[in-house]
Amino acid sequence: MAALQTRDSGAFVAAGLTAISPLGNPWEAAPEPQVASPRETRQIIAMNAEEEILALPGGPTRVRWRRHARARRVSLRIDPRGGGVVVTLPARAGRRAGMALLMTHADWVAERLAALPSAIAFADGTAIPIDGTLHRIRHLRKGDPEGARGSVWVEGETLFVSGGVEFLARRVGDFLRAEARRRFTALAATKAGTAGLRALRVSVKDTRTRWGSCARDGALSFSWRLIMAPRFVQDYVAAHEVAHLRHMDHGPRFWALVDELTPWRAEGMRWLNGEGARLLRIG
Ligand SMILES: [Zn+2]
Repeated sequence: MAALQTRDSGAFVAAGLTAISPLGNPWEAAPEPQVASPRETRQIIAMNAEEEILALPGGPTRVRWRRHARARRVSLRIDPRGGGVVVTLPARAGRRAGMALLMTHADWVAERLAALPSAIAFADGTAIPIDGTLHRIRHLRKGDPEGARGSVWVEGETLFVSGGVEFLARRVGDFLRAEARRRFTALAATKAGTAGLRALRVSVKDTRTRWGSCARDGALSFSWRLIMAPRFVQDYVAAHEVAHLRHMDHGPRFWALVDELTPWRAEGMRWLNGEGARLLRIG
């Protein structure tokens, strides 16, 4: 699988403070040699993820422990959406090694967490971006006081949500995911057609570490959060993943095809580097 990585605030590995690629590098990890099926991946996460609040020198900190069989070193990364730090341990490393890395980088962790943009919930009165333009969420009790049926629609720069207020956040999320699926299905079809390629299927996901990915069988997936980004960013990410239908690496021929499929490569990359992490804190 080739995946377009979201950016977080960087990462450290135990040996020599080198930034590691999966999240420290804003773009891409090398295609993984071996890919667990989604079900396997979920099981690995469910069995090994453990979250707790620890009193670090910089203050109480949400720490998520993650054991990863393919990890080669103990590493730290900031989780911009969860607002905490993730410690990844290779199969044989103990928790003590993770604590040691946390303590020696406590200042770094505290600084990065303090610099995260504040979280924005889907709520009445909140403004959220759609295609890069802020839309204010407005709840209407119109029609259905019980909220059994509600709908969501855009008028100008307002996102109206009817039905029970307790369902508002879920409805906004469902609406944005449906919009994202529609948008990326259309973009991928157009761009694949231009290149004489075909996407097997297009899905949207809520991945924290990837903006998009292309599986070897031709299935493309995109983060639904990109519907909040400007259209030129969506265009670039779609072109990037469609180009992987032909080239699974990031060699010169891959980038040449990306440039054939979008005029927005540089601008799109710049926007995701600078602004992308904010999208992870919304909703
Ligand atoms: Zn890629």
